[in-house]
Order: sequence, then C-alpha cells, then structure tokens
Amino acid sequence: MTALKAIIEAEIAAQGPMPLNRYMELCLSHPEHGYYMQQQPFGAAGDFTTAPEISQMFGELIGLWLVHMWQEAGAPDRFILLELGPGRGTLMADILRVAKLAPAFLAAAEVCLLETSTRLQAVQRAALGEVRHIERLENLPDGPIFAVANEFFDALPIQQFVKNDFGWQERLVGDGFSWALSDTAQQPDLDTAFEGLETGRIVEVAAASQAVANLLTKRIATQGGAALVIDYGDFDGTGDTFQAVQQHKKADAFAAPGEADLTAHVRFKDLVQNGVAHGFATQGDFLSRLGIDARRQALEAAGGQGLDAQQHRLTGADEMGVLFKVLALVPAGCNTIAGFENGA
Ligand code: SAH
Repeated sequence: MTALKAIIEAEIAAQGPMPLNRYMELCLSHPEHGYYMQQQPFGAAGDFTTAPEISQMFGELIGLWLVHMWQEAGAPDRFILLELGPGRGTLMADILRVAKLAPAFLAAAEVCLLETSTRLQAVQRAALGEVRHIERLENLPDGPIFAVANEFFDALPIQQFVKNDFGWQERLVGDGFSWALSDTAQQPDLDTAFEGLETGRIVEVAAASQAVANLLTKRIATQGGAALVIDYGDFDGTGDTFQAVQQHKKADAFAAPGEADLTAHVRFKDLVQNGVAHGFATQGDFLSRLGIDARRQALEAAGGQGLDAQQHRLTGADEMGVLFKVLALVPAGCNTIAGFENGA
C-alpha cells in the first residue's frame, strides 16, 4: 500500500467517509506524497499533455492578447504578470518571448507565479530565471494584474452532490475506497445554483475555485487588469466530471492515490464574480480569431515543422478545440474583448 493510501484510510477510519474535495486535496497536494509534489505529470512521457506543451503558438497568441489588453488598459507602467499553476513554465516562457515585441510591456511587468509545488517551483525557475513565487493568491503584490491560468482550475478540489426527492446527499469516499452518501440534507444554496435540475442528477461544487476567482475578480474590479482562464468544461455545466488520468489514459481515481492526476470540468459561470465583464469562447474559436493561421504560416515560412498538426490539436473540434473553453475576465464596462465574438 502506498503511504498516501494508508494516510487516507486512517483518516476515514477516524472521521468517517471523506468529502471528495478532501480526497482530491490529499491526492494532489499532500506536502510529501501529493501528485504535484511527486510525479512528472507533463508531456509525452508523463500523464497528460497541455496546450503550451503541444505548440509555442498557444503561448504566443496568449502573450499577444495580454499585451493588447495591457495597451487597451492605458499601458500602466507597473503591473503584475501573473500565471496560476504554471507547470513547467512553458506558457510563461512563450509569453515573455513574444512580449519582446512590446518592450514597454516587459519593462512594466513583474512576473509572479502562483504555485504550491516546490518541485515545480524549481522547474519554473530553471525555465524562466528568477521569478517571484506565491503559494496563495492573498500574497499577490499590489497593482493591476494581467493573468493567465491554463489547466489550473480543473486541478482544484470539488465536492459532488446528488439531488433526490428529499433533498441533497453528498458523495463521499468511504471505507475500502468506495463511494458512500451522506445523510440527506436541505441545501438552499444548491437549490438556487441548480434550479430546475431533475432528481438523480449529480452536481459539482468547487469552493476552492470560487475562492480564487473571488480574489482575482475583486483585484481586476478594484485595481484593473484582465485574466484569461483556459480549461475544459462548460459555462453552466452539471453532471459527474471527476476523473483520474495516468499515462494519457483514464484511470481508477481510487486505485493509487497520489499517482494519478485528478481533475473535474470547470463551471466557468462560477468564476465570473464581483461585477466584472467577461468573454467566453471555445479554444478553437478564440485561437482562430487571434490569428493562429497567420502565425502558423509565418513559422512555416521560417522553416518550422509539424505546425499543421499542432494547430489541429489545439483548434480541431475532434481534439481540444471545442472541449476546451476560454473565459476572459475584465473590468466592468469593457465590452469589446479581443478574441471573443463581441470583440475586435
Ligand atoms: N498550466 C500548466 C500546468 C497545468 S497543471 C500547463 O498548462 O502545462 C496544474 C498546475 O497547477 C501545476 O503547476 C500544479 O502544481 C499547480 N497547482 C495545483 N493546485 C494548486 C494550488 N492549489 N495552488 C497553486 N498551484 C496549484
């Protein structure tokens, strides 16, 4: 038995069946045995491949979007360039490279990375040089923020609830790592959030994601800036989307705690808070509107290889193009957002 499995079993034995968010938190972020502290998640040899690891075009277009939004905001001469959950640092490296086209943006930027894994912090320093790391968004330095989060929110813990005729029951991880249900309870918040849902359906609540989004949007509303959130999910999703992935395949989430990546789809609606305006699009539409075709052609003209396949993986409806969504969070009143239907 793995060390983490024993820790979880002991906690269930002492306290009873465990909420799913506690299970995810232990599996992903246990300081010693958590997935992001221990495993090599990214790339062909790891468990999953993210968009910035597929193609430099992804980070370059996001970099151009951030520069554009900074200019639209009046080019503040000091701001925080924030990435949440930077993985290997590839996305930020691509952003910083393309931002050399806008030296004033680079001169004004203080790079700040939100990362809890000390192992990944070291990988990010190796990729990017000296950067500021924070482990909690509460520690974000003051100032406008221009932020990006790719496949970050899907890694934050969720709870699951089932609606039945008598009220809601929470799905818990019980003895022997099998699903258990809490006693039935009335949950007015869930009744409101999921009004009209049929009985028997499962819903997911991501309190940790909502707390991060609250801080991000409060900052954008009060000090200015913009954030781009890219992830799989839907604006207003319901249903069971909890999954484990190991070596590019779906795995049993309870088989080897800490060894598989655990995620859930993002419910983007819950991230739009504090009166900010937003844009929402599929990843395919967003990257196409930002000019991925032209970027591919320029890289091909410079001798780049395999770019057609990269573009298809990022934008194709049978690949990441439709499953992945992009949410922009911007100050209220900013109603044309580049890359979105109502935008430039
Ligand atoms: N954005 C990267 C990596 C995505 S994986 C990419 O696209 O390749 C998720 C990242 O979020 C990892 O860097 C992980 O260590 C980090 N992470 C997970 N939970 C976190 C938390 N609660 N706080 C800060 N970072 C977290």
